[in-house]
Amino acid sequence: MLLSLILVAFSPSLATAQESRESLLWYRDTALKVLENGGKLIRPVLSVEERRIQSQLDISVPVSGESGAYARRSKDGRRQIVISAGMTRTLEWLAIAFVFERHFGFHGCLDEYASYLVRRIAENSARFKNNEPLKPVYPPQGYARTIGGSCQGLPRNFESSREAGADFASMMDASLLFIYLHELAHHTLNHIGNTDSLRTSRAQEAEADAWAISIAFKADFDLVAAAPAFTLIAGLGGSSLEDEVKQTHPLGIRRVLSMLTEAHEIMLQKRYPDTNKLDRVLADIRRKFPSR
Ligand SMILES: [Zn+2]
Repeated sequence: MLLSLILVAFSPSLATAQESRESLLWYRDTALKVLENGGKLIRPVLSVEERRIQSQLDISVPVSGESGAYARRSKDGRRQIVISAGMTRTLEWLAIAFVFERHFGFHGCLDEYASYLVRRIAENSARFKNNEPLKPVYPPQGYARTIGGSCQGLPRNFESSREAGADFASMMDASLLFIYLHELAHHTLNHIGNTDSLRTSRAQEAEADAWAISIAFKADFDLVAAAPAFTLIAGLGGSSLEDEVKQTHPLGIRRVLSMLTEAHEIMLQKRYPDTNKLDRVLADIRRKFPSR
């Protein structure tokens, strides 16, 4: 059973009024469906203890434009995973860039757009802290119109290609599920409460990725399709999804490959099963998304 295309029929919203509450509600509802179905699908491959932890979880998707995901305990001690609607939207925009790069020949657009997106998120989180007005953050089509670069001339949508639509849907499912697994890992690996509140150390981030990848292999989940989630995680440059984004360096598939290579080392150290499968995932990512 391949854990993709069986969750939610994702169709790209591609709306222009991306900040509208309706669009965030749509991201929330869609994310909740994927997380609920995905949680059930991975349950059979969890250990008894991991399953116990999973059943204690509250999952919430706040209707917020911020791009955040957290694993934490509430004040009354309940285990929580919070994945904002804005995070779903960020993953969607990255998935759209992947589709245009791969299916429509916009070479270089993905790396440029991913760098732009993560940098803007970082700038805005600093601006938010300083009470400064936020800068607009565009989806790939808006980036193509305003900045252009290698994305110049992007079509408004990709409805013309069924293959592209299917690829997009599986990337969204897999990416959301990977973020969920990453946050679940902070619970199962007992990271919560062992660090300064939500800020987790670099080592814990890599451990969470390694655990998430090992569970993905057990569940036969299409990890290559999680490339947008990997791009976002790699973009954080060793800080965390939970922390504010600090990235200022160019981003792209090469960074994704080095992040996965780091996870590979940890998987070997921890003797996770199926670690060798990651070599194939790395090769598939290189083949499907060649970097410039
Ligand atoms: Zn994390």
